[in-house]
Amino acid sequence: MEEEIRKAAEILAKSKHAVVFTGAGISAESGIPTFRGKDGLWKKYDPEEVASISGFKRNPRAFWEFSMELKDKLFAEPNPAHYAIAELERMGIVKAVITQNIDMLHQRAGSRRVLELHGSMDKLDCLDCHETYDWSEFAEDFKKGEIPRCRKCGSYYVKPRAVLFGEPLPQRTLFEAIEEAKRCDAFMVVGSSLVVYPAAELPYIAKKSGAKMIIVNAEPTMADPIFDVKIIGNAGEILPKIVEEVKKLRR
Ligand SMILES: [Zn+2]
Repeated sequence: MEEEIRKAAEILAKSKHAVVFTGAGISAESGIPTFRGKDGLWKKYDPEEVASISGFKRNPRAFWEFSMELKDKLFAEPNPAHYAIAELERMGIVKAVITQNIDMLHQRAGSRRVLELHGSMDKLDCLDCHETYDWSEFAEDFKKGEIPRCRKCGSYYVKPRAVLFGEPLPQRTLFEAIEEAKRCDAFMVVGSSLVVYPAAELPYIAKKSGAKMIIVNAEPTMADPIFDVKIIGNAGEILPKIVEEVKKLRR
């Protein structure tokens, strides 16, 4: 594995425009449960009921009660993998982080350019009167078990800007992510099994555009053949090691 870490560091040290793509795997190391997979939340909950836009419109309470179960997780902390990615951005190597996660952990770790393909919990909109809120306005009450309610009109239809099932991905963000995949010279996947669109697509766009390809994931993926460097393991342990190597190479 040391050899692979060194190879990844060599690619990044030479890169002038690296892009990182992250999925649920990176947040799982912060304690946020994943949705798919064998211990995933969709084994226990019906996403159509608790996490679709039609479900939300039928019964916002079911969505919030489900979120309530994840409450402690919604206040999780970034882990060393998030910090390592932010450091690569400060070093001028990483130019963008594309993520499928809605937990804002990249921003909290210090990443500045984050393209959130599935939106985030950061802002909420009242579907009735269109008032907009910051999550921080509800966070304290939510911790005590109260679900968000519009302060202006009293509606319970206060929806976070996270993409629910049945909703389109934010088109502008998706467009920017595709542009980044096209222009990058290094593309590093962290914690994604690359099965869901557009995760399944972006690495191929980057590869076709000539980028060097790195993947750090807990398990092999179907897309492994297109990667120059494949590292199986915990991103929280591996990424800080890669950053250390990059620093040595740049000295
Ligand atoms: Zn309202």
